Amino acid sequence: MSQRIAVLPGDGIGVEVTREAVALLELVAQRRGLDLDLWHLDYGADRFLRDGTTLPTQAFEEIRDTCAAILLGALGDPRVPSNDHARDILFGFRFGLDLYANIRPVRCLDDRLSPLKDHAAKAIDFTVFRENTEGVYVNVGGQVRRNTPDEIAINEDINTRKGVERIIRAAFEHARATGKKRVHMADKSNAMKHAHELWLRVFRLVSTEYPDITAKHLYVDALCLLMVRDPTLFDVIVTNNLFGDIVTDLGAALQGGLGMAGSANVHPGRRCAMFEPVHGSAPDIAGQDRANPFAAALTVGMMLTHLGHPDLEALIEDGVRECIRAHACTADVGGTLGTRAAAEALRARVTALLG
Ligand code: ATP
Repeated sequence: MSQRIAVLPGDGIGVEVTREAVALLELVAQRRGLDLDLWHLDYGADRFLRDGTTLPTQAFEEIRDTCAAILLGALGDPRVPSNDHARDILFGFRFGLDLYANIRPVRCLDDRLSPLKDHAAKAIDFTVFRENTEGVYVNVGGQVRRNTPDEIAINEDINTRKGVERIIRAAFEHARATGKKRVHMADKSNAMKHAHELWLRVFRLVSTEYPDITAKHLYVDALCLLMVRDPTLFDVIVTNNLFGDIVTDLGAALQGGLGMAGSANVHPGRRCAMFEPVHGSAPDIAGQDRANPFAAALTVGMMLTHLGHPDLEALIEDGVRECIRAHACTADVGGTLGTRAAAEALRARVTALLG
């Protein structure tokens, strides 16, 4: 039976890297006989500016009910300073599909990409589980006395027992399923004594169900320090929505930059999941054939694992590794190729690896 995939290139470099990601996906699907039905959708800034559409309810429901995956490029455009369309579409999927686990692997594929003088690529290999439906992203708050010297601005940090418990459990389950031995949880419970004490308490409780895995707590500031000082300390890191956003940009720096970081948004056990590179729409380089297409390619790899083909994720990762080693890549990772040529080089290697 065919598996349906909604494809939303979105804005800026999202359009350029998704074009190449789809070509890669079509290549492996054709060579391996996968029956994929790609459904191309134009939601993004252009459409929003044209007719005000962000994510129509009917389309959302059809995607929810018929798709096994969503492949998203990136959202954000300087012509929409409010970012309303991006929020509607991105949060529409994350919150609407209750994709509570944002899984972001931090894996350095070549020694040349490691920014740490004492740590080569193999030292940098861990996965961040970012809570994806709560925290400050719920946007509970407000502003009063706006534009006066007495202005007050508030954003509440929303943490529910259910939300905290399920992301922590997902991190432990992932560790167990992948044979990893350590789960670190990062919060700021020394400063946020109510909201983050919940994280600490639930982490300690859930960890008792996984005696085979070492559970360690860190304040998020210490986590940042240790990620740079000694990344070998980590296998799986679980943290809240805001901290997850920040530490995975640091993580991206450890793996060669935002052009190398893929991600998945899932509700474990449910069919429809969303896949998007960690990077945004990068307006500064959009339309110049400069964007690194490998983050989107690695994201396609994660999607293929979700669709039941983990061997193809490994193969794409090998292809990216070979391209980086041969300098067949874009300038951000030490090459001289444009987006299209780097993606073509990857497809050539993937074709060879497919045999
Ligand atoms: P967002 O808020 O949507 O996450 P951002 O403003 O944090 O986006 P990004 O678009 O993620 O910014 O990227 C920050 C910078 O990193 C870009 O301006 C660009 O210079 C660089 N960058 C991001 N992605 C890539 C890529 N795929 N290839 C090359 N450079 C990239």
